[in-house]
This record gives sequence, structure tokens and C-alpha cells, in this order.
Amino acid sequence: MIEPVRFELSARDLPETWYNIAADLDYVAPVLSPATGKPVTRDEMTRTMPEALVDQELSREAEFEIPGEVRQFYARWRPAPLLRARGLEKVLDTPARIYFKYEGVAPTGSFKPNSAIPQAYYNKRAGRTGLIAETGAGQWGSAVAFAASLFGMDAKVFMVNVSFQQKPYRRALMETFGASCTPSPSMETEAGRAVLKENPDHPGSLGIAKSEALQVAFSDPRWGYTRGSALNHVCAHQTVIGQEALLQMEMAGDYPDIVVGCAGGGSNLAGLSFPFLRAQLHGGPKIRFIAAEPAACPSLTQGRIAYDYSDTAGLTSLTRTHTLGHQFVPPSVHAGGLRAHNIAPLVSRVVEEGLMEAVALRQRDCFEAGVLFARTEGIVPAPESTHAIRGAVNEAIRCREEGVGKTILFGLSGHGNFDLSAYDRYLSGSLADDSIDPGALEHGLESIPKLVNA
Ligand SMILES: *Cc1c(COP(=O)(O)O)cnc(C)c1O
Repeated sequence: MIEPVRFELSARDLPETWYNIAADLDYVAPVLSPATGKPVTRDEMTRTMPEALVDQELSREAEFEIPGEVRQFYARWRPAPLLRARGLEKVLDTPARIYFKYEGVAPTGSFKPNSAIPQAYYNKRAGRTGLIAETGAGQWGSAVAFAASLFGMDAKVFMVNVSFQQKPYRRALMETFGASCTPSPSMETEAGRAVLKENPDHPGSLGIAKSEALQVAFSDPRWGYTRGSALNHVCAHQTVIGQEALLQMEMAGDYPDIVVGCAGGGSNLAGLSFPFLRAQLHGGPKIRFIAAEPAACPSLTQGRIAYDYSDTAGLTSLTRTHTLGHQFVPPSVHAGGLRAHNIAPLVSRVVEEGLMEAVALRQRDCFEAGVLFARTEGIVPAPESTHAIRGAVNEAIRCREEGVGKTILFGLSGHGNFDLSAYDRYLSGSLADDSIDPGALEHGLESIPKLVNA
């Protein structure tokens, strides 16, 4: 008999609503305006965001209806499969049952179109003709380029310079979808020029790229500024992942004891874990939720909970969350999508309330787990996703040592077919295990604004 390893839903199981965990938390800190230091007004928010998304951002309602057109586009690749990693279990000789939710089946290879599509939809309905984005590893840029092409919109992407150099195929993918892609810092904006004046060889950071994208969006209302992660509405859009996984675990006749996700801005982790956390908060079984972050950019394990900006120049609103400081520039780890100095306030809050744990993992340990996974399951994971795999493998090893068979579910946030140069470096032994420079950490933490304190 063939043991089931793949749990598939059909289009009619696609979620009809997004889940907003803000409805189930006791406290959600107000977002502050960079201009006034007071809670941000709707008028300020609608400068760069359509009304519908502002409504979602501020809402304490538990569910938002997913528009029909968005569900129709989701149906091109969703529901995404959930698989049992029997090969990995076997090689680890663990009594644990390991499942993963595979988001690499999306057209751009990661979960990011789950939010890019609704953002394109709402921006187009608000009369905008183009989408603007910053991107680290290139996955958000690819998702925005893809979504813009579906809706007949323009797309312009600022890509962190080091990733632009390391990942030429990501740029080619964006251009294939019709987007234009600029390495950041660039000479096109004031924010970029200021950085280049100080350091012409600056590797770039997500914060700088964000400042550049925002400056273009502020100067020309045709552009809708998109958000790849961190914001409440982005976390909500991503909950299609966890809602499907709940149904699929039921199909598998199992339920997770442990849920692990990789954490950069926090959106795929939120998307997978919040629907399970919702069940727990409403009386369901208790789960250990684990955020796996890179040791090179450890916002949850070494950051402070404070109000801070999300970009380097201090143009964004201030959010209360775990932060390493908006001036923090992490080492150039290959998991470019995990190089954010702060994290989704909703994820931060869930950690602060003790509902989720965080671990910081080193790049080489993560690649080791990623290669083991590729060799046992046949999927090359995105470098970001290897953090979730490492986190899951560590728990599976613990199960072996303790002789207990737990159920572990992790998020495989994307495939790594565009990241083979990083694997090449790992396999040839030349991949650095970037440790965090104490000076950079101190400088970052000092840049957390002192005027407002959490
Ligand atoms: C962007 C990205 C991440 C990190 O983003 P989060 O908002 O933390 O989820 C992780 N994995 C992949 C494959 C990505 O593209």
C-alpha cells in the first residue's frame, strides 16, 4: 500500500476570507505618524495606500472577505499542497512526523503573490496605474511584477544592491513580467543619492530601498506603494496558507504539536501560524510556535521592543515592534528575504505575549539542513526557508533523543531554484557564516528613536 505523503485540496476549498489576528489580541499598539509622533491619521495613510487596505490595516474585525477576482487568480496555483516529509523523517531516524506546507508552487516560486495580488487589485480599483516596491532577495519584486502584469499595470522595483549582484535571474524574471528593476541605493532618488555620497559601494539594505520606493510614490500619485511584509493587512492576506494547512492536517488525520516558520518581516510565519493560533485561542489544542530567524539579523532574539521606523531615512510610520534599529545594516546573508531590522508588529506582539518562541540560526547550519531536505524530499528550498527546515530538524532530533513522536509542521516558504549560486558556495565550502558585528548591532540599537517609548 502506498502511504499518503501529499494532501491536496480542490479549488472549492480555497478560503473565502482572510483572518485578522488583531481581533483576538488584547492589545494592538497604535501606529505613529513620523510627522507628528501621534497616532497616524487615515489621511496620512491614504497618501500611499488604497482606502480598502487602510481599512484592513486598522481593523479589529476577525475576517475580511477575499474578492472574487483575487480568489480566481489564487486558483491558478492554490490551494498549495501540504506534504509529509517521510524521506527526511527516515534519514533523521526520528519518531516525529514532519509535514510541510509548500508555497514554492506559486508562479514566482514563493508565497509572496498571496499578498501582491490583492494589493494590485485594490490599487487598481483606487485608480493607480503602477505598483512600486522594494525588494531584498527579489521575491517581493517578482511577486509585484507578476501581479502587475495580471492587472495590466506598470511595476517599478528597487532591489537591494547586493542581491541585485547575487541574483541576476531574479532581475530577469521581473523584467520578463514587464517590470523595471533598479539596484538600490540608486541615483534616482534623494535617499539613494545621500547614501551613495557617503559610500559609493554601499551594499544596500531593505530600509534604504524602502526609502527610495516611498520617495517615488510620494512624488507621483500614479504609483501605488506596495508592502511585501510586516503590515497587518499583509499578514492577514497570508493566512490563506494556514487556513488551507488546517484542512490538510485534518485530511492527514493529524494535528501539529509544533509549527515552525522562517521569520524576516514575519508574513509567511504569520500566514501559517495565525490560523492555528486562532484555533488555540478559541480553546483548541496548544501548539509550540517557533519563529526561526537568521543569527545575522536577529530582531526577535536580540532586538528591543520599541517604536521605530521601517526604513533607513525615517519616512515610514513608527510601529511598536521588535527592532534592531532602523540604521542596522546586517551582513550580506544569502537569505536576503530575512534581512529586515524589524518584524511584523502582530508577530512581535504574539512573541511578547509568550504565545510564540524565537530561535536564531546560523547560515551554514541552515544550508546543511536545506541540502539534507533537497536530497531526501527532492525540493531545493529557498535560503530563507532553510531556516524553517533547520528549526524543524532540530525539533525532530530532540524527539529522537527524548523518544517522543511529536507532529511538526513547517512552512516551506519557497523553492531555491533561483538561488543555486548560494548552494554552489555552500557546497564548495566558501559560504561565510556571517556573524553579527557587535559594533553594527550597537549602532543599530542606538538608532531606535528615543522620543517615543513603548
Ligand atoms: C520574502 C521571503 C521570506 C521572508 O519574508 P517574511 O515576511 O518573513 O515571510 C521567506 N521566505 C521566502 C521564500 C521569501 O520569499
